[in-house]
Amino acid sequence: MSAAAAAPPCAAPAERPVLRERGQHEVFCGLTGIVWLHRKIQDAFFLVVGSRTCAHLLQSAAGVMIFAEPRFATAIIDERDLAGLADCNAELDRVVTQLVERRPDIKLLFLVGSCPSEVIKLDLSRAAQRLSRQLAPAVRVLNYSGSGIETTFTQGEDACLASLVPEMPAEPGTARSLLVVGALAEVVEDQFQRLFAALGVGPVRFLPGRRAADLPPVGTGTRFLLAQPFLGDTARALESRGATRIAAPFPLGAEGTTRWLAAAAAVWGTSPEKLRAATAGGEARARQAMAPHRERLAGQSVFFFPDSQLEIPLARFLSRELGMRLVEVGTPYLHRAHMAEELALLPEGTFLSEGQHVDRQLDRCRAAKPDMTVCGLGLANPLEAEGMTTKWSIELVFTPIQGYDQAADLAGLFARPLVRRARLEV
Ligand code: SF4
Repeated sequence: MSAAAAAPPCAAPAERPVLRERGQHEVFCGLTGIVWLHRKIQDAFFLVVGSRTCAHLLQSAAGVMIFAEPRFATAIIDERDLAGLADCNAELDRVVTQLVERRPDIKLLFLVGSCPSEVIKLDLSRAAQRLSRQLAPAVRVLNYSGSGIETTFTQGEDACLASLVPEMPAEPGTARSLLVVGALAEVVEDQFQRLFAALGVGPVRFLPGRRAADLPPVGTGTRFLLAQPFLGDTARALESRGATRIAAPFPLGAEGTTRWLAAAAAVWGTSPEKLRAATAGGEARARQAMAPHRERLAGQSVFFFPDSQLEIPLARFLSRELGMRLVEVGTPYLHRAHMAEELALLPEGTFLSEGQHVDRQLDRCRAAKPDMTVCGLGLANPLEAEGMTTKWSIELVFTPIQGYDQAADLAGLFARPLVRRARLEV
């Protein structure tokens, strides 16, 4: 039976049927998030407490040159540590002390847990508290886990941001403010700042900020918009501090961006005329810039392997704004509340799958023969060798894709592999 024939029947968005898969995964771990997070928080340092494998992953994902002064590193757990012959806490204290002495620019240090640190049950939360006390007030030390056999690579950002929430100061009073949650490129942040100002929405703050000291306040007046769809733990932590999530689709594409802005505008009571005035120009510009890509992509079929948790918003964008046909939309986790607005916009009968059984999904993909397959790096090369056209999902997190002025770039990321394949076939 082909994937299309096996598609579950359509249903109202809230109860859309989903194929749940449990089996072998093909994913990167949450350490990957360090690659974009260290660029975003400019005085933070990420110290992975892990193995040589973790160091290799980070090094190759970030493509760091040997003479650079990067703001991440790996404290290697070696055989003596694993055998319990060394005092890991003493070793860690020594490494951290050396690091902060050598790098006075570090204001926020994340101890990032890994599979090996979890296997030997090294308590990084106690280590972070101890080191924070020692190094205060110059350096704040936090910890989170980037390990992942069962996780997705974007969960590293979620864990990192969730670790920041308890550190956020309390917002005095109940005055309303907007918090945009999720690491965004600075250029995108600036564009959104201008749009919110035009909508009369504010004050607007961003999590994470550009510097360690920029931690925004949070309280019962805080309304937050998720800029990324993989921030379930961060959202929960913010809600436990009294903040309220504004339900919205994600700001991908012209439509997604307008709906995302409109959701905040509705909370602030912005008039429809003011909303139109603030968004019409950006939306028209985005649609015009996307038009050549739409010509290339319309009618092409796309198959998503579960990898980044961006799959559902991307599928909505590709089908509604670029006319692509969705064969299967796989997602590692389906957060029904955070995805409700996105699910409502997907075409009826869209085949959704959650979790992964990679062999079964590969069978469905090969049977469907999609024009494009969106997947992780580990699957892309073998599928390309089989003649399929692929898009690396990780590129969609490394590249600024949110907002009106990035909509055409996002469309271009999907058009390029098809153009390249067409050229190769000439
Ligand atoms: S999966 Fe585990 S061992 Fe492998 S790089 Fe990630 S944290 Fe390190």
